[in-house]
Amino acid sequence: MEAEINQTKITLACGDITAETTDAIVNAANERLAGGAGVDGAIHRAGGPAIMAQCRKIGGCPTGQAVITTGGNLQAKYVIHTVGPIYRGGTRNEAILLQSAYRESLKLALRHNLQSISFPAISTGVYGYPIDEAAHLALKTCIEFAEENTGIKLMRHILFDQRTYDIFSGEFKKLLF
Ligand code: ADP
Repeated sequence: MEAEINQTKITLACGDITAETTDAIVNAANERLAGGAGVDGAIHRAGGPAIMAQCRKIGGCPTGQAVITTGGNLQAKYVIHTVGPIYRGGTRNEAILLQSAYRESLKLALRHNLQSISFPAISTGVYGYPIDEAAHLALKTCIEFAEENTGIKLMRHILFDQRTYDIFSGEFKKLLF
């Protein structure tokens, strides 16, 4: 499903983020930018060693922040690595940090004059964030950013399985209507 907010199209789709053709794809990284399982591993496998070489030079990224590297062999020109919070019950600033991960990624894209960006469902895998809450925060942050900024024309949310897609769709409808 998709919706137009101000001058930005926000789209939800089921799929593999490494196949995206947007200007940037977002990686759900860890603070050491060390690579790992899940979407992080998939991006490094598909993008090749140039991405990790730049990650090593950058050295790390605090939770809630974002950094940018080449897209290597990916179709996307850039990878924006952001670090979502590990979910520990919801009382450790998780919501603020998850919103920050999305917002800082969008700010970085804007600063690099990128027009399109694809996000995975940050923190909802190994980091354990409840998907409905994460979906609400992810989409709310993107909608608010689109209302306040022009320049990014397309924000895609690439959900890896049907269940995650359905939860994101439900939360998107609630925010729109
Ligand atoms: P985190 O550590 O932030 O929780 P994970 O990679 O474990 O990150 O999971 C984040 C989300 O990314 C999960 O919903 C997972 O199913 C999804 N995911 C895993 N591989 C891919 C992929 N290739 N493309 C898109 N999403 C993916």
